[in-house]
Amino acid sequence: MLKKVEGIIISETNFGETSKIINLLTDDGIIGIMAKGAKSIKSPLRSYTLSLTYGEFNIYYHEDKLSTLKSADVINEFKNIKKDITLISYMTYLCDLASQVMKQNQNKDIYNLLISSLKKIDNGLNPMIITNIYEIKLLDYLGVGINFSECAKCGSMKNIITIDPDAGGYICQNCYTDEVIYEEKVLKMLKMYYLVEIDSISDLKISDSVIYAINNFINIYYDSYTGLYLKSKKFLEEMTS
Ligand SMILES: [Zn+2]
Repeated sequence: MLKKVEGIIISETNFGETSKIINLLTDDGIIGIMAKGAKSIKSPLRSYTLSLTYGEFNIYYHEDKLSTLKSADVINEFKNIKKDITLISYMTYLCDLASQVMKQNQNKDIYNLLISSLKKIDNGLNPMIITNIYEIKLLDYLGVGINFSECAKCGSMKNIITIDPDAGGYICQNCYTDEVIYEEKVLKMLKMYYLVEIDSISDLKISDSVIYAINNFINIYYDSYTGLYLKSKKFLEEMTS
């Protein structure tokens, strides 16, 4: 069956002398596709089968085995991302993260939010903020969302003084022992990250100290709760530290 699918190539593997197998992340999950002859210089498929290509792919779809690529069109080249090695690392990590989360929860939003995030990064918005916003939103799809409405220990909505990644959310004055105190701005921004619609973000004015505090919080939270250990994340951390 000939089928048109939108997606991002998350990996490519050589197959034989001239062909490639690509894995395409779509809003329906990952599709394995054979691209016959795609390694040869003359092949029209050559430039459309590179990792991180975002496009529309015409494939002969096979449910339980590899599909076959017929032709493809690029939707967005992500030109600005592709010319910056740090931004490429962000994109690689975000695609990797989306694939891993989709293996646990095949919700189309995970894919759609990924595309929205990549467009914003390509348009020049701070990649750490956009990545953190995407990460915070994904927690709900992993079943380990942060509770932004009450103290994680006692359920009180009053006198919230900090947020603790180990407790899984807010800490109120009564329950406070020795957790790190995050300033109020950080608490407010974290909630804003969770609530904001990525497509609607046009400008970001957040101080560096708040940005880094949130990034740090999310990293600890991911390590404690998600069970995800991605090489692309380690690599990104090395690039940006
Ligand atoms: Zn409490």
